[in-house]
Amino acid sequence: MGMFDTIKLAEPLVCPACGHEESTLQTHHFGETLDTYRVGMIVPDCSVLTGILLETSWCSACHNADMEAAPQLYVVIWHSILVAVEWKREEAERKLAAVDRLDLIEWVDQMQREASTWRRNYHALRSDLARWREYQDEQKRSAAGQAPPTNSPLRKLFMPDDAIRHAADPLAAILERHPPDDEPEGF
Ligand SMILES: [Zn+2]
Repeated sequence: MGMFDTIKLAEPLVCPACGHEESTLQTHHFGETLDTYRVGMIVPDCSVLTGILLETSWCSACHNADMEAAPQLYVVIWHSILVAVEWKREEAERKLAAVDRLDLIEWVDQMQREASTWRRNYHALRSDLARWREYQDEQKRSAAGQAPPTNSPLRKLFMPDDAIRHAADPLAAILERHPPDDEPEGF
């Protein structure tokens, strides 16, 4: 199979050979950089700037046992943006001709919201880790008699909360509180 890139599909593909539902499509047209793309994203290394690319769906379950029946899909690219993945060529052509400003605004809006969610998640995770580390340091200093125990209400605001402090495994509790919302992409 070699190197490829992955397109996340809005609707899963059903493999005609084994019935497995595939939520992604692998492609060799995007520069083979092992990146993941969704509709609305810019594909910097795509083999065309604007056009329709034919791609064969690869099944991760049966590895295309029935190669003859492997679904063919049309990947629509408009000014380097992944616009759609379609079953029918006519629909792909229609989507290519119909891209307008409202689509662009919707995609920018979507990316902006996702970036903001990731920033928020990152800072929440970092804050829980930083507080836990600070709390441990404080406990050590206090046990060594180097610092008085800190019980002030203000100080408590900056300490890990009870659920983490009293957990049998505080790091596991922190990880559980910050689950991945999706499979990690590209790493
Ligand atoms: Zn299959």
